[in-house]
Amino acid sequence: MKKYDIIVVGAGPIGSTYAYKMAKLGYDVGLFDMKNRIGQPLQCAGIVSTNINDTKNLPKEFIDNQVKGANLISPDSTSITVEKEDTVAYVLDRVMYDKYLFERAVDAGVDAHLGERVFDVDINNTSIKTDREYSSRLITVSCGPNSSTSKKMNPNLTDESFMGIQYTVKTELTSTDYVDVNVNSSILPGFVWKIPVSPTEQRIGLFTQQSYNNANQILMSMIDSKSIISQKHYGSIPKYNFKKNIVENNTILLGDSASQVKPTTGGGLIAGFNCVDIAVNNSNKMLEEENNKYLENYQKEYHKKYGNEFRAQQNVQSIIQDMTEDDFNYMFKQLKENHVDEIISEYGDMDNQTPLLKQLVKTGIIFKLLPKIGLRRLKNIWKSQ
Ligand SMILES: Cc1cc2nc3c(=O)[nH]c(=O)nc-3n(C[C@H](O)[C@H](O)[C@H](O)COP(=O)(O)OP(=O)(O)OC[C@H]3O[C@@H](n4cnc5c(N)ncnc54)[C@H](O)[C@@H]3O)c2cc1C
Repeated sequence: MKKYDIIVVGAGPIGSTYAYKMAKLGYDVGLFDMKNRIGQPLQCAGIVSTNINDTKNLPKEFIDNQVKGANLISPDSTSITVEKEDTVAYVLDRVMYDKYLFERAVDAGVDAHLGERVFDVDINNTSIKTDREYSSRLITVSCGPNSSTSKKMNPNLTDESFMGIQYTVKTELTSTDYVDVNVNSSILPGFVWKIPVSPTEQRIGLFTQQSYNNANQILMSMIDSKSIISQKHYGSIPKYNFKKNIVENNTILLGDSASQVKPTTGGGLIAGFNCVDIAVNNSNKMLEEENNKYLENYQKEYHKKYGNEFRAQQNVQSIIQDMTEDDFNYMFKQLKENHVDEIISEYGDMDNQTPLLKQLVKTGIIFKLLPKIGLRRLKNIWKSQ
C-alpha cells in the first residue's frame, strides 16, 4: 500500500492550495480528485473581495472584471448604491483559477490522482480507499459540501445547506462597475445576484432553500428577453454550524467540507484560504512533533477567527428570514432617508460584517430600519460581537 505523509481528498481551490503549501514545506502529499478536469463545471459566481490579496493567492491574470460596489434593490425596485472609491471586489475566471491552483500544487511536487474517486476515508487507520488503498500520517478532506467523512465525524448532526443556481448570460451591459443584489421575499434569506463579467457577459444567480424549480422560475423572471443563456450551473452551499466537529484522530475537514463559508453570502474562497493557513501551520506542527493535539488547535483557531463573525451573520440571516416584502420596502425607504448608504459604503466589508452592524447599532439607525424586530433579537446580535 502506497504511504504518503499527507493525503488530500479533493483538488478544489482549498484542497489544492493546502496540498501546495504542505508540499512546499517538504512533505510527500497525495492529492485525489474524482474529476479528470479540475475546475469544471463552473459552480461559482467568482466574486471575491479585495481581501483576497491578503492571502497572496490570486495572480491578476484570473481577474475578468473589477467592481466598485453594489446596487441593492428592494422588491418595489427602490435602489441604493453602496460603493468605495477603489475596487472592492474581483470577478474571477474560476475555471482557469482552480486549474492554476491545482497545477501549482503539482509543480510543487504533489502526487496528483485525477479521475480517482475516494470511496472511503478510514479515520481510525488514516487510510483511504479508491479502487486501490493508500495510507498516510494525516488526511485532509476538502471534497466540497457533501462529504461522507463529515457525516462520519458528526453522526448526530444534519449537514444543512443552501442551493446556489447560476446562469451565465450573453447580454449588453451599460456598466461593468457594480454588482446588482435583489432581495425577494420568496427566496429569503437568500438573494439574487447579477455580476458583470464583461460588457457582454453577466452571471445571474441566487442562493436559497427553495426547490430547484422555484429557484429556476425566479431566475428566469430576472433575465430580460434579449439575453441569451449560455450556461446553467448549480451546487450546494453549506451552512456554518459551530457544533460541527472538523477533527478526529489524524483526519481534518477543510473548506466547504468543514462548512467554512460566510453565512450571509455563501462565499467560501477567502474564508477557506484563511483556514488553509491555520490548517497548514498546525498540520506541520503535528507532523514534526508526532502529536495530533495540534489538529485540535486547528479547530480552536478556526473558531476563534470566524466563530463570532459567522454567528453574527447567522443572526442577521434569521432576522431577514422573517421579513415580508413590505418590511423590505420600508427598510429600503429608511435606508435612503437616513443616508445609510454612506454608512454602508464606509463600514461595509463583504467578509467582515460586524463592524457595519456595530455602527448601525451604535448610531441607533438599526432601530429605524427594522421596525418589527424585537429588542431581544437585536441584543443577541450585539452580544455575539
Ligand atoms: C452557485 C455558487 C456560487 C458561488 N459563488 C461564490 C462566490 O462568488 N465567491 C466565493 O467565494 N464562493 C462562492 N461559492 C462557494 C465556493 O465555490 C466554494 O466555497 C469553494 O468552491 C469551496 O472550495 P473547496 O475546495 O472547499 O470545494 P470544491 O470547490 O467543492 O472542490 C471539491 C473537490 O473535491 C472533489 N471531490 C468531491 N468528492 C470527492 C471524492 N469522493 N473523491 C475525490 N474527489 C472528490 C470534487 O470533484 C471537487 O474538485 C459559490 C458556490 C456556488 C454553489
